[in-house]
Amino acid sequence: MNFKEKIRVIPDYPQPGIRFKDITTLLQDGAAYRAAIDELKEQLKDVEIDVIVGPEARGFVVGAPLAYALGVGFVPVRKKGKLPGETIEASYSLEYGKDLLAMHKDAIKPGQKVLIADDLLATGGTISATLDLVKQLQGVPVAAAFLIELNYLEGRKKLDGLNVVSLVQYD
Ligand code: 5GP
Repeated sequence: MNFKEKIRVIPDYPQPGIRFKDITTLLQDGAAYRAAIDELKEQLKDVEIDVIVGPEARGFVVGAPLAYALGVGFVPVRKKGKLPGETIEASYSLEYGKDLLAMHKDAIKPGQKVLIADDLLATGGTISATLDLVKQLQGVPVAAAFLIELNYLEGRKKLDGLNVVSLVQYD
């Protein structure tokens, strides 16, 4: 399937000069959504995974169905203050300043093999903070999976040689 043609590019959102990759058009197409998850599963078939970690909110849309397809658990990463139990935190850069991502303290057991999932890899800031959380709990990051990768922002370089898979790339 040509996944790129299912993604809508919205110019000047959320600000002038940005060409936003809108995945809602892919998600609303049942065959495309299922094929995208199936394709990520196929690309990860040789990777041993115990649990998938996904940052809110679009990381849930990719990570949760992939966890279901693989028969492994799903761990949500949320903005600080949203999780009810005891949490650990990691900071990540926003355009202006910083914010905190949080994960439950007991979400990952030491040594568990972790796949990180999100909709899109841009600068890698969100995934670096997610990796930080996984490492704080002594999880072992084995791969990262995305629907979309923006090659020109070189997010991969921030991910310490982690195995990165993505369905659609923009140069
Ligand atoms: P990064 O932290 O790698 O710079 O940015 C990736 C994060 O920002 C992802 O969580 C993603 O959801 C969001 N994001 C940034 N740009 C886009 C975009 O063009 N389309 C979508 N769907 N998400 C984006």
